[in-house]
Amino acid sequence: FQQRDAKFLYSATKAEHYRHLSEPEITFAGRSNVGKSSLIGAVLRSAGLVKTSKKPGHTSLLNFFSLTSSAHPAAISVVDMPGYGFRSRDEWGQFIIEYLSTRKVLRRVFLLIESKVGELKSTDCSFLELAEKHGVPVQLVLTKTDKLKRTSLDKISNAVVREAKEIGPTVVQPYVIHCSAKTKDGITAVQEEILRVCNV
Ligand code: GDP
Repeated sequence: FQQRDAKFLYSATKAEHYRHLSEPEITFAGRSNVGKSSLIGAVLRSAGLVKTSKKPGHTSLLNFFSLTSSAHPAAISVVDMPGYGFRSRDEWGQFIIEYLSTRKVLRRVFLLIESKVGELKSTDCSFLELAEKHGVPVQLVLTKTDKLKRTSLDKISNAVVREAKEIGPTVVQPYVIHCSAKTKDGITAVQEEILRVCNV
């Protein structure tokens, strides 16, 4: 990851905008304010990059980034999915269904859950139902872990995985990544997982 450059590609509003992208792809999803922009900034090691795409009007779009490196010719697409709540539920749903049901190159969705919230909300559950329906593998990530003690985190992780597995038994991965964009704890684990699932 160290030698990779992240570049903002564009914001997409419909499948035509991303259909031609054939690189292995991973996506970050989660409720608004879960810490998604901060985490993507830390993972791609470029906070300004995500802020650029966070201009008003851009948050309700799928933002595509490209990770490239001279040492590794294969590029990876990284997608910032709009936080639930930026559009009406129906509108958001159609947009995301179109994405999840057509992206054959999608290797993982990193579904972010705020550790302090400690449970899945109904929007997370709806998202997991969609992922299960379309066979999209989901990696759960607990964010802002600097706010909690290790023992609480372990308890929350177990509860969240159990609940998520009930909704997405075939797609939810059995472990949780703990992350803090503030302390940078767990950022390497996310980077390694991206490279692993993209086979690069
Ligand atoms: P987004 O709406 O999901 O993109 O969330 P942001 O990345 O904009 O973060 C929402 C709020 O949570 C901001 O006030 C951030 O400063 C804060 N935040 C994000 N990540 C962390 C973290 O790892 N630790 C703590 N303590 N706060 C965080």
